[in-house]
This record gives sequence, C-alpha cells and structure tokens, in this order.
Amino acid sequence: MSSTESAPQRVVPAHLLKGQKALVTGANSGIGRATAVALGRAGADVVVNYVAGREDAEQVVEEITGSGVQAAAYEADVSDEDQVVAMMDRMVKEFGTIDILVANAGLQRDAPFTEMTLAQWQKVLDVNLTGQFLCAREATKEFLRRGVVPEVSRAAGKIICMSSVHQIIPWAGHVNYASSKGGIQMMMETLAQELAPKKIRVNAVAPGAIKTPINRSAWDTAQAERDLLKLIPYDRVGEPEDIAHAVVALASDLMDYVVGATLYVDGGMTLFPGFATGG
Ligand code: NAD
Repeated sequence: MSSTESAPQRVVPAHLLKGQKALVTGANSGIGRATAVALGRAGADVVVNYVAGREDAEQVVEEITGSGVQAAAYEADVSDEDQVVAMMDRMVKEFGTIDILVANAGLQRDAPFTEMTLAQWQKVLDVNLTGQFLCAREATKEFLRRGVVPEVSRAAGKIICMSSVHQIIPWAGHVNYASSKGGIQMMMETLAQELAPKKIRVNAVAPGAIKTPINRSAWDTAQAERDLLKLIPYDRVGEPEDIAHAVVALASDLMDYVVGATLYVDGGMTLFPGFATGG
C-alpha cells in the first residue's frame, strides 16, 4: 500500500473562491485537471482549456459542475496568439470576467543536446513559455479593465504560473524544458514586480515529481519509483492533488500578501537530498 492510499482525505474549503472565475490551461489531464476540479470544489466557476482530447475535457467539466459551480471546455492552443485572444474574449463574454489564471499547459520533447532539433527546442519554448506569456497578457488586460471587486477578492487578479523544480535544478537531456522553466521564473517575477501596484498578484508553483502522463516512465515500475524516491526526502511521489491544493491556496485571499513567490511543492526535492548523508 502506498503512503497516499492510507492517508486521510484532504478537504478543499467550499467557499474559499466563491464567485471567482478561473481559467486553467491544459486542464484535461494531470495537474491541470486536478487543479480545475479543486478550484471548482473551492467555489470557483472554471474554464477547462484543452488543445486535444475534447472527451477528457468534457469529463472534467462534468466533475466540476458536480460541485454546483459553472464550467465549460474551451479548445485553444496556448502558443497561438489568435486562439488565446479568442479564448479570453469568449470567457469574458460567457463567464463575465476572469479572476484567476492558472497557466499550466506544458510538454516535454526530450533529447541529448547534440541530437535536439530546432523544432523540439522551439515547440517546448512556444508552449511552456510563450504560452504562459500570451495567457498572462490577455488575462491581465481584463484584470486591469475590471479592477478590484472587494466582495470577490482583495486582488484585481491572480496569475499562477506552473513552473517546475527544473527552474533551478539543471536537467541533462532536457535543455529545452529546463530553459523554458528557468524563463518562467524570471517572467513571473518581472510580471509580479510590474503588476503588483495594479493589485494583480503573480506567483508560481514549482512541482517536483508528480504522477501524471508527462513523466510516466519515472514512476510506473517499482524500480523506477524506488530510484525516484532517492531524490525525495518526504518519501512519496507527488499526486496531482498536491499541486492543485497549493494552487487553490495561492489563488485565495489567505495568500493575499504573497507576490512574486515560487512555492516549491516537491516533498523536499530542492533540498539537495544527496547531502543528507554526503558532502
Ligand atoms: P500532462 O501531460 O498530464 O498535462 C499537460 C497538459 O498540457 C495536457 O492537457 C496537454 O494537452 C496540455 N497542452 C500541451 N500543449 C498545449 C497547448 N499548446 N495548448 C494547450 N494545452 C496544451 O502533464 P502534467 O504533469 O499535468 O503537466 C502540467 C504542468 O506541470 C506542465 O507545465 C509541466 O511542465 C508541469 N510540471 C509537471 C511535473 C510532473 O512531475 N508531472 C513536474 C513539474 C512541472
């Protein structure tokens, strides 16, 4: 039995984000899916963005509306400017506004450095970094137009960038991915500095190893999981809900004074576990 099977249930406070409108990109799978569901449980209405896999997105919508809030699935490629603009326009039209953006969509195209093609490099930068830039820019325009609505939130808007421990841990064989996440850190901090005076909070969540389709080979055999656990002092591989709950908290007014921060949600992976017995 894994440590999570025996763990007590964690309950998302149902009114924490009541009346807020959230957009989660890449929300038909993994971390985005769990985050969209948790935002709904916290009382937010949720747009579930997807680029492929409409059926999965519709299932997520069904699960969210089960919490008694509104949800809809919008197709858009986050790296395509016109599609992002159209998605945000549609959200404002159908949901009234946006209060929370979770810029989550991301992918990997791994290769040893000398074998990495320009297309592999560019695709990862386009989706992981430019995609977050485009979504953040369009959400910010709406935050600025609407301003603070005190009954809804103390902030005019919240942006949560999905980064990774690889914004600070170099990752051989993944130079495109690690560069995209390093870029997210500086983009997030610069936007946080620029937008804080407008009462827009920009922060990031940096997951460690979470069980999702993006990294299946790292945890789907007993040996792979044992090897992975050597990097995780807390001695369990993360679940999508671990990240979803961090996002809900960060988006809420409980965290209203948190601006420009990266919340590492990694079971201690960034604590240099090799030094626990060496060094
Ligand atoms: P996942 O593959 O399950 O989900 C990624 C989602 O992004 C999918 O829904 C995919 O369709 C979507 N996507 C890809 N390209 C898109 C595009 N152009 N437009 C819109 N959506 C697009 O993987 P995940 O683990 O849930 O990853 C979510 C985020 O978390 C990513 O940014 C990833 O880098 C980050 N992350 C994951 C881990 C982990 O261990 N799983 C660790 C650190 C960071």
